[in-house]
Amino acid sequence: MQSRDQLKTYKGAAGGWGALKSCAQVLWRTTNPVTGAYTVSKSNQPDGFDCPGCAWGDPEHGSSFEFCENGVKAVAWEATDKRVTPAFFAKHSVRDLLRFSDMELESAGRLTQPMRYNPVSGHYEAVSWAKAFEDIGKHLKALDSPDEALFYTSGRTSNEAAYLYQLFGRVFGTNNFPDCSNMCHEASGVALGASIGIGKGTVRLEDFEKAEAIFVFGQNPGTNHPRMLTSLREAHERGARIVAVNPLKERGLERFSDPKNKLEMLTGGSRPIATSYFTPKLGGDMAMLRGMAKAIFAWDAERILQNGTIDRAFIAEHTNGFEDYEAAVEQTTWSHIEEQSGLTKQQIEDAALIYVQSSATIFTWAMGITQHAHSVVTIRELANLLLLRGNIGKEGAGACPVRGHSNVQGDRTVGINEQPPSWFLDNLEKLYPFKAPRSHGLNTVQAIEAMRDGTAKVFIGMGGNFARATPDTAVVEKALRNCALTVNIATKLNRGHLITGKASYILPCLGRTEFDEQASGRQLVSVEDSMSMVHGSAGINPPASEHLLSEPAIVAGIAKATVGSELVDWDSLIANYDDIRVLIEKTVPGFAGYNERVRVPRGFYLGNSAAQRKWKTHSGRAEFCAAALPAQTVYQRTLASKEPTFTLQTIRSHDQYNTTVYAMNDRYRGVKGLRHVVFMCEADMERLGLVKGDLVDMRTVSEDGQERVARRFVIAPFEIPVGCVASYYPETNVLVPLYARGEGSYTPTSKSIPVTITRSEPAQTA
Ligand code: SF4
Repeated sequence: MQSRDQLKTYKGAAGGWGALKSCAQVLWRTTNPVTGAYTVSKSNQPDGFDCPGCAWGDPEHGSSFEFCENGVKAVAWEATDKRVTPAFFAKHSVRDLLRFSDMELESAGRLTQPMRYNPVSGHYEAVSWAKAFEDIGKHLKALDSPDEALFYTSGRTSNEAAYLYQLFGRVFGTNNFPDCSNMCHEASGVALGASIGIGKGTVRLEDFEKAEAIFVFGQNPGTNHPRMLTSLREAHERGARIVAVNPLKERGLERFSDPKNKLEMLTGGSRPIATSYFTPKLGGDMAMLRGMAKAIFAWDAERILQNGTIDRAFIAEHTNGFEDYEAAVEQTTWSHIEEQSGLTKQQIEDAALIYVQSSATIFTWAMGITQHAHSVVTIRELANLLLLRGNIGKEGAGACPVRGHSNVQGDRTVGINEQPPSWFLDNLEKLYPFKAPRSHGLNTVQAIEAMRDGTAKVFIGMGGNFARATPDTAVVEKALRNCALTVNIATKLNRGHLITGKASYILPCLGRTEFDEQASGRQLVSVEDSMSMVHGSAGINPPASEHLLSEPAIVAGIAKATVGSELVDWDSLIANYDDIRVLIEKTVPGFAGYNERVRVPRGFYLGNSAAQRKWKTHSGRAEFCAAALPAQTVYQRTLASKEPTFTLQTIRSHDQYNTTVYAMNDRYRGVKGLRHVVFMCEADMERLGLVKGDLVDMRTVSEDGQERVARRFVIAPFEIPVGCVASYYPETNVLVPLYARGEGSYTPTSKSIPVTITRSEPAQTA
């Protein structure tokens, strides 16, 4: 089949029959459809488990169907009947497995036993838990410094496992806790911390029912937070303005057919989502926001609205730095704003008018905002606009960075942080008589550099697919292979497990859907969503294998073998996770009565100081940020290049969750059976003399002289601004240099990579 036949413009709405069909297909492919459907039905239910997908919130009075198409994929993927046993590894060497695609590796099924890599045979071989823990402990104890070890966390890890993991690492003596949020919302944490004194969103799910306007920046909820479409649609239907700001015209932001709406399903109907859609250039969001502020200040001076367009009472009572900000806005020229944003003054004024006509506005955002060099000041500009109209600490208003992983926010809350606040370490030292490490640890990019340079020798991964989720694939793979030991705790096999250190272990853990039996009986774990709601999660299925251990039990096993049990009685904490929650309660504010409150259906609200207009900043007030716009974005720099150069953003397909590829399709973007695809607008295709289906190579315009190339990608026409292109990760992470990171966040700038695009050489025929 010609590639071009696999690219057809999608005409339907998001959701609808397409979603149901896709759910049925994944259940059919992976599980016994009956037990699979039953498992899915318990997703996000008070007597069930938390969906291992994204971190969108659960409605207080949720229905019995609180899941979306991608939630079904995540659950079915974990609850699969397929198994990866020692026999599988005996049949396939690591070299063989490296030829499998990401999807083929994960499709193979659930890991069943602890495996140790044998460099002589080149195969993973079964090993006992005791032997694995003992050997891992030996490696850790043999290090010259605890800072030669890295404890990586993916956002699927529960609060209980994450707290135990950080306790072990700190008793061991390091703050090296790189985690997946370093690559996603780190800039949100840094920016909001500086602006409003807390690095989390200030809104609750109920606020979406009261907002008069909701701006969705750099986010594709139709794929990455699908249940958010329900909140947006309901808001639209009650007259709220829904403003989408995204370079890509995403179907989920245009039309949604609710699978729970019988009439719509019968008639094939759907409802619009966005009332306005703005498509700035990649990296142009800050300029758009600065332009909105410029219009608002001008209108305030002209008093176009009776009460003005700026909430001066709020500003006087609660903020700092307003005058400096006003001056910065004044000094920013419209020509700079228009060129950088790629939007006209009129378009930006249209957006600003929607904003000032609303008395309660929510800003939501995701990776399209956080993965640029200037993301921290962009998010501070989001906060500036919210502060200008007092839209923080007010019903129906506030900041909402929507997290991509079910517990990435919770992990940070309970201590997965390479820069822990001193109060956290003080509280740990009150619980256990030890000296907690005080020097800051390594984040994800720094961890890669340390492994590359040999200053880190042991990598332990709690979930995730480090080698595929991180930038500069060739560098990362070499860095991991440089390690004395790599350990991956996981439910399913992935490519990261095949990039081995000198010694390597795969430790299979229980999934979120499975019950976790410990000495005191079945255990409950807990997670925190993007709205700071903490809720319990209890598996409902028997474990995929009798050999599996829970994440907390695996941490305890490694900890006992490394630091012993003199200081911390790991076994008693494993026997009953209530005791871990008691420790969390004594370490982190907001968790009082944790064990009682976590058992309340739908859990409890952790609270948010900024939502109470208590500003935990250095000044005790909300802080405006008077940063100037970047002189030039990557996009603007590409305009000056002699040869055609594009700004690439890496994205997910609709059949993908982080690095997990469920299928080779991307329904809403009209892609079938392809992963090596690059989306480009018709005007750029014409400029390059390319047509749909042509094969091209993408090459990074590298500053370090390193060649970074991704070959034979299929050109797919798509509505995207001129000069901007998009392609899937992890396949294009090879193009993202390690040095390309956010100022103040260290987040890889995966949304703005300068690349050249040339026609691929014809395939060599034998
Ligand atoms: S919106 Fe997110 S949390 Fe909710 S069911 Fe879908 S993937 Fe799971």
